[in-house]
Amino acid sequence: MARYTGAVCRLCRREGQKLFLKGERCYSDKCSMARRAYAPGQHGQARTKLSEYGRQMREKQKSKRYYGVLENQFETYFEMADKMQGQTGSNLFKILESRLDNVVYRLGFAMSRPEARQLVRHGHFTVNGKKVNIPSFLVKEGNVIAIKEGSMDSEKIKAILESNESKVVPEWLGFDKKTKTAKINHLPAMDEIDFEVEEHLIVELYSK
Ligand code: SF4
Repeated sequence: MARYTGAVCRLCRREGQKLFLKGERCYSDKCSMARRAYAPGQHGQARTKLSEYGRQMREKQKSKRYYGVLENQFETYFEMADKMQGQTGSNLFKILESRLDNVVYRLGFAMSRPEARQLVRHGHFTVNGKKVNIPSFLVKEGNVIAIKEGSMDSEKIKAILESNESKVVPEWLGFDKKTKTAKINHLPAMDEIDFEVEEHLIVELYSK
Protein backbone atom coordinates (compact mmCIF):
# COMPACT_ATOMS: atom_id res chain seq x y z
CA MET A 1 0.00 0.00 0.00
CA ALA A 2 1.27 3.51 -0.83
CA ARG A 3 2.46 5.41 2.21
CA TYR A 4 3.71 8.88 3.01
CA THR A 5 7.50 8.72 2.75
CA GLY A 6 8.43 12.37 3.34
CA ALA A 7 9.92 13.92 6.47
CA VAL A 8 7.53 12.84 9.21
CA CYS A 9 8.37 15.55 11.75
CA ARG A 10 6.81 18.05 9.34
CA LEU A 11 3.52 16.25 9.88
CA CYS A 12 3.62 16.84 13.64
CA ARG A 13 4.57 20.46 13.12
CA ARG A 14 1.73 20.89 10.64
CA GLU A 15 -0.76 19.47 13.16
CA GLY A 16 0.76 21.35 16.10
CA GLN A 17 0.84 18.12 18.08
CA LYS A 18 3.24 15.25 18.65
CA LEU A 19 2.17 12.27 16.57
CA PHE A 20 4.99 9.98 17.77
CA LEU A 21 6.07 8.80 14.34
CA LYS A 22 9.78 8.40 14.99
CA GLY A 23 10.21 6.20 18.03
CA GLU A 24 12.78 7.13 20.64
CA ARG A 25 13.49 10.55 19.15
CA CYS A 26 9.90 11.58 19.91
CA TYR A 27 10.59 11.25 23.63
CA SER A 28 13.86 13.16 23.54
CA ASP A 29 14.77 16.83 23.27
CA LYS A 30 15.69 16.14 19.64
CA CYS A 31 11.98 16.09 18.82
CA SER A 32 11.24 18.84 16.29
CA MET A 33 8.15 19.83 18.23
CA ALA A 34 10.36 20.67 21.19
CA ARG A 35 12.54 22.88 19.04
CA ARG A 36 10.24 24.30 16.37
CA ALA A 37 6.65 24.00 17.49
CA TYR A 38 5.18 25.83 14.54
CA ALA A 39 3.99 24.75 11.11
CA PRO A 40 6.68 24.11 8.48
CA GLY A 41 7.21 26.39 5.50
CA GLN A 42 7.69 30.07 4.87
CA HIS A 43 4.47 31.12 6.58
CA GLY A 44 4.65 28.54 9.33
CA GLN A 45 4.92 31.06 12.12
CA ALA A 46 2.07 33.26 10.87
CA ARG A 47 -1.10 33.06 12.94
CA THR A 48 -3.98 31.82 10.83
CA LYS A 49 -7.52 31.36 12.00
CA LEU A 50 -9.01 28.23 10.49
CA SER A 51 -12.54 28.11 9.13
CA GLU A 52 -14.91 25.46 10.53
CA TYR A 53 -14.21 23.32 7.47
CA GLY A 54 -10.47 23.85 7.96
CA ARG A 55 -10.72 22.64 11.57
CA GLN A 56 -12.67 19.58 10.50
CA MET A 57 -10.10 18.75 7.81
CA ARG A 58 -7.20 19.19 10.24
CA GLU A 59 -8.74 16.79 12.77
CA LYS A 60 -9.19 14.19 10.05
CA GLN A 61 -5.67 14.66 8.65
CA LYS A 62 -4.16 14.54 12.12
CA SER A 63 -5.98 11.29 12.94
CA LYS A 64 -4.96 9.67 9.65
CA ARG A 65 -1.34 10.58 10.27
CA TYR A 66 -1.36 9.49 13.90
CA TYR A 67 -2.64 6.03 13.02
CA GLY A 68 -0.83 5.83 9.65
CA VAL A 69 -4.03 5.28 7.68
CA LEU A 70 -4.68 6.47 4.14
CA GLU A 71 -7.79 8.30 2.95
CA ASN A 72 -9.69 5.31 1.52
CA GLN A 73 -9.15 3.17 4.55
CA PHE A 74 -10.10 6.02 6.86
CA GLU A 75 -13.33 6.48 4.94
CA THR A 76 -14.04 2.76 5.18
CA TYR A 77 -13.51 2.92 8.95
CA PHE A 78 -15.89 5.86 9.14
CA GLU A 79 -18.58 3.91 7.27
CA MET A 80 -18.08 0.95 9.62
CA ALA A 81 -18.29 3.27 12.64
CA ASP A 82 -21.45 4.88 11.32
CA LYS A 83 -23.18 1.49 11.07
CA MET A 84 -22.25 0.47 14.60
CA GLN A 85 -24.42 1.19 17.63
CA GLY A 86 -23.41 4.21 19.70
CA GLN A 87 -21.61 7.40 18.79
CA THR A 88 -19.95 7.38 15.39
CA GLY A 89 -16.94 9.44 16.52
CA SER A 90 -16.02 7.18 19.41
CA ASN A 91 -16.75 4.07 17.30
CA LEU A 92 -14.29 5.38 14.71
CA PHE A 93 -11.53 5.62 17.32
CA LYS A 94 -12.42 2.20 18.74
CA ILE A 95 -11.76 0.80 15.26
CA LEU A 96 -8.52 2.74 14.79
CA GLU A 97 -7.27 1.64 18.21
CA SER A 98 -8.09 -1.99 17.46
CA ARG A 99 -5.73 -2.15 14.47
CA LEU A 100 -3.02 -4.69 15.23
CA ASP A 101 -0.19 -2.24 14.48
CA ASN A 102 -1.65 0.21 17.00
CA VAL A 103 -2.11 -2.53 19.60
CA VAL A 104 1.49 -3.69 19.12
CA TYR A 105 2.67 -0.11 19.62
CA ARG A 106 0.49 0.49 22.67
CA LEU A 107 1.78 -2.73 24.24
CA GLY A 108 5.35 -1.47 23.93
CA PHE A 109 6.33 -4.13 21.38
CA ALA A 110 7.46 -1.34 18.99
CA MET A 111 8.79 2.19 19.45
CA SER A 112 6.35 3.80 17.00
CA ARG A 113 3.35 2.84 14.90
CA PRO A 114 5.43 2.81 11.68
CA GLU A 115 7.83 0.38 13.35
CA ALA A 116 4.90 -1.69 14.67
CA ARG A 117 3.54 -1.93 11.12
CA GLN A 118 6.87 -3.22 9.86
CA LEU A 119 7.25 -5.75 12.68
CA VAL A 120 3.72 -7.03 12.13
CA ARG A 121 4.44 -7.44 8.42
CA HIS A 122 7.52 -9.47 9.32
CA GLY A 123 5.30 -11.87 11.23
CA HIS A 124 6.52 -11.30 14.79
CA PHE A 125 3.11 -11.44 16.49
CA THR A 126 0.26 -13.84 17.05
CA VAL A 127 -3.44 -13.36 17.70
CA ASN A 128 -5.02 -16.27 19.53
CA GLY A 129 -1.90 -18.33 18.86
CA LYS A 130 -1.87 -17.79 15.09
CA LYS A 131 0.64 -15.63 13.26
CA VAL A 132 -0.98 -12.49 11.85
CA ASN A 133 1.09 -10.31 9.51
CA ILE A 134 -1.59 -7.80 8.50
CA PRO A 135 -1.12 -4.41 10.24
CA SER A 136 -4.76 -3.44 9.63
CA PHE A 137 -6.09 -6.63 11.28
CA LEU A 138 -8.72 -5.55 13.81
CA VAL A 139 -8.47 -7.21 17.20
CA LYS A 140 -11.60 -8.00 19.19
CA GLU A 141 -12.52 -8.29 22.83
CA GLY A 142 -11.05 -11.51 24.23
CA ASN A 143 -8.32 -11.83 21.59
CA VAL A 144 -4.90 -12.77 22.93
CA ILE A 145 -1.96 -10.91 21.42
CA ALA A 146 1.57 -12.22 21.89
CA ILE A 147 5.07 -12.08 20.48
CA LYS A 148 5.66 -15.16 18.31
CA GLU A 149 7.83 -17.86 19.77
CA GLY A 150 11.25 -17.39 18.28
CA SER A 151 10.75 -13.65 17.82
CA MET A 152 11.39 -13.27 21.55
CA ASP A 153 15.03 -14.14 20.72
CA SER A 154 15.30 -11.35 18.15
CA GLU A 155 17.85 -8.74 19.27
CA LYS A 156 15.63 -5.99 17.92
CA ILE A 157 12.57 -7.12 19.88
CA LYS A 158 14.65 -7.61 23.02
CA ALA A 159 16.01 -4.04 22.72
CA ILE A 160 12.51 -2.62 22.22
CA LEU A 161 11.13 -4.49 25.23
CA GLU A 162 14.00 -3.25 27.34
CA SER A 163 13.47 0.38 26.25
CA ASN A 164 9.76 0.12 26.95
CA GLU A 165 10.11 -1.66 30.27
CA SER A 166 8.47 1.23 32.14
CA LYS A 167 5.92 2.12 29.48
CA VAL A 168 2.40 2.46 30.82
CA VAL A 169 0.08 0.16 28.87
CA PRO A 170 -3.60 1.15 28.74
CA GLU A 171 -5.82 -1.06 30.89
CA TRP A 172 -8.20 -2.01 28.11
CA LEU A 173 -5.42 -4.11 26.58
CA GLY A 174 -5.28 -6.49 29.55
CA PHE A 175 -1.49 -6.69 29.41
CA ASP A 176 0.43 -9.23 31.46
CA LYS A 177 3.89 -7.77 31.87
CA LYS A 178 5.42 -11.07 32.99
CA THR A 179 4.33 -13.18 30.02
CA LYS A 180 4.29 -10.23 27.57
CA THR A 181 0.84 -11.19 26.39
CA ALA A 182 -2.37 -9.19 26.25
CA LYS A 183 -5.97 -10.32 26.43
CA ILE A 184 -8.17 -7.52 25.16
CA ASN A 185 -10.52 -6.55 28.01
CA HIS A 186 -12.69 -4.29 25.91
CA LEU A 187 -12.24 -1.80 23.10
CA PRO A 188 -11.46 1.67 24.46
CA ALA A 189 -13.82 4.57 25.10
CA MET A 190 -12.61 8.04 24.07
CA ASP A 191 -11.42 8.87 27.58
CA GLU A 192 -9.13 5.81 27.51
CA ILE A 193 -7.39 6.95 24.33
CA ASP A 194 -4.26 9.00 24.77
CA PHE A 195 -4.77 11.28 21.76
CA GLU A 196 -6.02 14.85 21.68
CA VAL A 197 -8.71 14.92 19.05
CA GLU A 198 -12.12 16.47 18.58
CA GLU A 199 -13.78 13.49 16.96
CA HIS A 200 -17.08 15.32 16.50
CA LEU A 201 -15.36 17.53 13.88
CA ILE A 202 -14.56 14.44 11.78
CA VAL A 203 -18.15 13.27 12.05
CA GLU A 204 -19.35 16.71 10.95
CA LEU A 205 -16.96 16.66 8.00
CA TYR A 206 -18.24 13.33 6.71
CA SER A 207 -21.85 14.23 7.38
CA LYS A 208 -21.88 17.10 4.90
FE1 SF4 B 1 6.79 14.12 15.78
FE2 SF4 B 1 8.41 12.33 16.77
FE3 SF4 B 1 9.31 14.08 14.95
FE4 SF4 B 1 8.72 14.83 17.46
S1 SF4 B 1 10.35 13.46 16.81
S2 SF4 B 1 8.14 15.89 15.61
S3 SF4 B 1 6.91 13.55 17.91
S4 SF4 B 1 7.77 12.46 14.64
